[in-house]
Order: sequence, then C-alpha cells, then structure tokens
Amino acid sequence: MSFDTLNLHEALIRAVKTAGYTAPTEVQTLAIPPAMAGRDLMVSSNTGSGKTASFVLPALTRVLASRSQPRPPRGVMQGPRILVLTPTRELAMQVAKATMDYGRFVPGLSVATVVGGVPYGLQLKQLRGPLDILIATPGRLIDHLESGKAVLGNIEMLVLDEADRMLDMGFIDPIHHIAAATPKARQTVMYSATFGGHVGRLAEDLLRTPQRIEVSSQTEAHADIEQRLHWADDFQHKNALLDHILTERSVEQALVFTSTQRDADWLAERLGEMGHSVAALHGGMPQGRRNRVLQGLRSKHLRVLVATDVAARGLDVPSISHVINFGLPMKEEDYVHRIGRTGRAGRAGLAVTLAERRDSGMIHRIQRYTTQRIAPTTIVGLEPKRVEPKPAAPMGQRPAGKSFGPRPSGRPAFKPAGKTFSKPGARPR
Ligand code: AMP
Repeated sequence: MSFDTLNLHEALIRAVKTAGYTAPTEVQTLAIPPAMAGRDLMVSSNTGSGKTASFVLPALTRVLASRSQPRPPRGVMQGPRILVLTPTRELAMQVAKATMDYGRFVPGLSVATVVGGVPYGLQLKQLRGPLDILIATPGRLIDHLESGKAVLGNIEMLVLDEADRMLDMGFIDPIHHIAAATPKARQTVMYSATFGGHVGRLAEDLLRTPQRIEVSSQTEAHADIEQRLHWADDFQHKNALLDHILTERSVEQALVFTSTQRDADWLAERLGEMGHSVAALHGGMPQGRRNRVLQGLRSKHLRVLVATDVAARGLDVPSISHVINFGLPMKEEDYVHRIGRTGRAGRAGLAVTLAERRDSGMIHRIQRYTTQRIAPTTIVGLEPKRVEPKPAAPMGQRPAGKSFGPRPSGRPAFKPAGKTFSKPGARPR
C-alpha cells in the first residue's frame, strides 16, 4: 500500500513524503478512505500507530476542497470547518504540530489551539480571524462558547481524540454541549481505546451509523518495547535501582513516571542534585513552563523527564529510549499509554517498572490487561533481598497476606522537602 492509492490531494502526498513516510500505517489505510468519504467512524488504535494523520489528512482534504469555494465577505466571522477535541493540552499541541506538518503545502492554512492554562488574548484573536481547523480541550472551549467568542456553526467535521480519556476526566457534559453547538449534518470521528460503557453511549449519541475500525490490541502494539520489572525491597532500594538505570549508556532520553505531582517535583530535584539534566512535567505547572520543558526534551537539553500521567499523554519524542515507572499508574490502561512513549517511529524502547511489594496487585492487573507477563529482572549488586511476590490470585479473589493488598492511596514513608501541590486527599496528576 502506498499513499498514492489513498486518493489524497497532491499537497498532502507531498507533505507525508517530506515527513519521510513511505507507506500509510494500518490505521491510516483503514480510516482514511471512509473518513474522506464523509463516514462517521469509531476507531480504536493505539498510541504510536499513526492515528493523528488518519484524521488530520481527511480534515485537510476538506480544507483543500474549501479553497475552491467563494470566500466569505470580509469581517464575517465564520468559525472553523474542523474541530478536534483532545483531553489534554499536550495532546492538543501535538495534534496542532502534526496538522501544521501535514498541512505545510495547503495554501493559507489557519490552525488554532484553544487550551486551558494560557492567556485568553491570542486565542480570542485567532478565533476572530479566518480559521480552518480548531484544536481544543473541552473546558477552555466551553468558556469561549459561553462568552460567544467561539462560533461552531460552520463545523463540517468533529474529531474526538482519546474520547475514553476525556470521559474519565469528567468532560461528558462539555462534550455534549460543544457537539450541540455544531451542525447536526457534520461528520463525527471518534477515537478511543475502548467503546464499552459510557464511551459507547456517547458514540450512540453523537455518531450516525458509524463504521467501526479496530487496529491491533494493546499486546501487539508494543512489539518494539521490551518490558522489565524490578522488585524493590523498599523505597531506598527503588531509588538505587533508578540511579543505576539512569547511568546506563544505552539511555538516550528517559521518561520517569511518578504517581503524583509532588513526587515528580521531589524526584526531579533529587536527580538534578545528582547532576542529571532533568526537569519535572505535570498538570500543576503553568503552561508556559510545561512548553519550555517539552522544548528542552525535544532539543535534547534534557536527558531525563520526570512526569505524571496527565502531562505525558500524547508525548511523541522518538529519542525517548527508556520509560521508567518509578510510581505505578492508577489505572492499568495508563501503563499502556506510558510505555507507548518509547519505541516510537519504529525504534526499539525499554520500559522498566520499579515495584515494591505493595504494588503487586497493580502489577497483576497490568499483566492481565495487556495479557503479557512483565519479566522480573535483577541488577548485579542490587538484587532484592526479599522473596519475589507470588503471582496474585485469579480475578475476583484477594490473595492472603497484607503485602498483597491494593496500593494504599498515601505516599510511601518519605517526606519530600518543599512545596505541596495537592489538596489533602486529592491526587492531582
Ligand atoms: P501517532 O500515533 O499519530 O501519535 O503517530 C506516531 C508516530 O508515527 C509519529 O511520530 C508520526 O510522525 C509517525 N507516523 C505517522 N504516520 C506514519 C507513517 N505513515 N509512516 C511512518 N511514520 C508515521
């Protein structure tokens, strides 16, 4: 299969060739033709599968078609033709960047991002001007809709990227509200890891006779990623394992995940004191600083990034050779998203999970979710002294012994110095 057979406009074929792509990926092959035919789609495809281009190229096809239509009179605010909703600011930025890349030969292409955590001024200016594609997080777009600054009456295509994640984040009402502000005759394309439960109901509400496209399971998608597990006796041991791994020469760039914002700050500070070029990235930081950190990672000024789940979602930096789970995710799906940050664009990646005994319940759930065993590994001189936890009991049973219980919501027994970002009991990510 080649891009030439997809019936794409010459400007788009030239752009994908400039990006160095020789052939469409599976999701692109399956989703681009029906999307270009105007069909509603429900697509499950994994991170790193090339899914962004699978909706951006059909969206740009619409923009190119509009170039032959008469322009609206000057001063008439028309609003964009395409709206992409994403759960996080980072993913919105990523989609915007991909759109600019794939749309580099589209004459006069105008793309705006409307995300929270940044000043309103530039967004208002962009919303007023002629606009082809709007990429937004639901919360901030609702603000602009309610103040009458965003016009969605011209939307031809609505894309919901990572719909499951948006619903997990509580965006169900904003999504309904936003969709209701767009024309009924629009095309709607929804991407989600699953289409069960509330995601399925949302699809029923928003999509018309959709075509279902499923591309490879969680398991197959990670063929380029080697997964390893290190059991740690205690918190100090876990730190020693991390320090050892980060000094390995094979680490080009490492993404270290923590469970909380506070841990991310604390760990970044500790690694910085050890001489690593490192920064933290999490949802509690102002957007400007988050952008600078991502820039530092892309330009390789940073070798280590310590991040929470929210901040790292959608991150696409092919030179990330290692993902290290220092704190386990809250949900097993997040493990899959985390490790998908390495092994990108056909490169090999290593995903290392550092677990204490109390994490064994989550390790079991992750293995069941991915249907893969994560092989326990040891480092000479840093072997665990305690016996490796036995495999947990089958679904529905709770194994005996208190060390196998679910992970407690509190932090392990260490007290980081410095600021606290969380409200008591809250677990910001
Ligand atoms: P995505 O799943 O959209 O986040 O894309 C994952 C990575 O694959 C990005 O780095 C894209 O630049 C890259 N990519 C997308 N389409 C192709 C393709 N047809 N051939 C090679 N790489 C691609």
